[in-house]
Amino acid sequence: MKGVGERIEVVQGDLTHEAVDAIVNAANRSLLGGGGVDGAIHRGGGRAILDACRKLNGCETGDAKITTAGALPSRYVIHTVGPVYQDGQHGEPELLARCYRRSLEVAVTHGLKTIAFPAISCGVYGYPLTEGARIAVDAVATFLGREESIHRVRFVLFDSVAFEAFRQAAGEWGAGPQDGSDPR
Ligand code: ADP
Repeated sequence: MKGVGERIEVVQGDLTHEAVDAIVNAANRSLLGGGGVDGAIHRGGGRAILDACRKLNGCETGDAKITTAGALPSRYVIHTVGPVYQDGQHGEPELLARCYRRSLEVAVTHGLKTIAFPAISCGVYGYPLTEGARIAVDAVATFLGREESIHRVRFVLFDSVAFEAFRQAAGEWGAGPQDGSDPR
């Protein structure tokens, strides 16, 4: 089995284009759609995602639930709800880490091996990027260290500033060169 750093990739791009087992959605507690990456996922995946979400009864902050990916190239969407950032003193770091961990737990339960994440909470929810990136990479790397069934985790960042923050955080774990090759 490859080391933790070798199973983490950081790329700049559009999460909805990822042909992985599951992409993770930075959703809100209603799971009924929103702006940002959530809006892009529902637009790209179509009605099937919303129909599946309607049956889930929402999702608590820090938890994760899985649906079809509809028309998207990934097989599934794992919806997680990040914390709204206030000042970092209201449990935000723990809740953000839990989003990544719970998403990966759901993936393991479904036998999924390749997962792609956005920068959860780092958009409208206001999480400071450097801190959000460090929490994300640390949570994922720690999980991968004790769970061998996940082969690859890709962080897919929309803009160059987010990409740079995640690249730096992943570098601390020895994540290798990002060649953008197909994870499957
Ligand atoms: P949150 O409400 O959890 O902050 P947002 O969707 O507002 O979620 O933002 C989370 C991150 O996702 C931001 O860094 C934003 O730039 C990014 N993002 C928006 N659209 C996409 C996309 N299609 N692919 C990848 N990342 C995206």
